[in-house]
Amino acid sequence: MQVEIKVLKKDEDNLRLLIRGVTVPYVNALRRIVLSEVPCMAIDEIVMVENSSILQDEIIAHRLGLIPLKTDLDGYNLPEECPCKSEFGCNLCRVTFALDAEAKEGSRTIYSGDLKSESESVVPVSDKIPIVKLAKEQKIRLEAYARLGKGRNHAKWQPVSMCTYKYFPNIEISKKCSVCGKCVEMCPRKVLVKTDNKIEVRDLMACTLCQDCAEACPENPRAITVSGEEDVYIFNIESTQALSPERILTEAVKTLDKQLKEIESQIKVKKSEED
Ligand code: SF4
Ligand code: SF4
Ligand SMILES: [Zn+2]
Repeated sequence: MQVEIKVLKKDEDNLRLLIRGVTVPYVNALRRIVLSEVPCMAIDEIVMVENSSILQDEIIAHRLGLIPLKTDLDGYNLPEECPCKSEFGCNLCRVTFALDAEAKEGSRTIYSGDLKSESESVVPVSDKIPIVKLAKEQKIRLEAYARLGKGRNHAKWQPVSMCTYKYFPNIEISKKCSVCGKCVEMCPRKVLVKTDNKIEVRDLMACTLCQDCAEACPENPRAITVSGEEDVYIFNIESTQALSPERILTEAVKTLDKQLKEIESQIKVKKSEED
């Protein structure tokens, strides 16, 4: 079957695709690779110089790790692949951030925007993420080190806040429909709408295939049927802004391709050993 991909929605952070002609294992493998194999930058280590805030060093380290960072995938190496082979890293596999803040005149909230990065391309995706609130005269001074990593090691290295797929919905309303409107009332996603003398589909993409509408139908047999189209999916990526959704998808496809080739070559080796 020929594979067909159509972009249903695309903006800075979201990508929604209609994929036709692949199997569930393929589309699910793609989703899992997006979540666990596409690398992005995250703070991984800190050196605390001074911390008189109410939060312990570990909590601040944890909060810093969860700040999404704009990632320059072409400019940095994964630490395990970097030629430096150093556990401290080098400027090809590590980005240093500094934080030096004090609440001089009253309480002050320290935000991600107070972090100073040594790299112009690796910075927090937003300046407005709170890290800690300092009371008057409290101080915080630290150095933080960001590295590329993968979601399979820690969720802070997931470049997406969401990656999902669902079957493409297909809703059919038969001539037996009495236009009682029960299905419209039951639908939690407002997919259906009742017009003068018929039921219409208002927003097909919003349908979750929950079947609540069909179960509410008083007709026997039911006048409404909802099913998922075989081998047709809606695939959603919502980026944390670390990478563009297109780049996340391209990297995932490349990784899947590489993994499949590796399996193929291993099967060939095994076969030639047996021959
Ligand atoms: S299956 Fe669920 S979401 Fe879809 S139209 Fe019916 S009630 Fe609405
Ligand atoms: S519940 Fe059944 S009969 Fe009533 S409007 Fe919906 S499809 Fe028609
Ligand atoms: Zn290095």
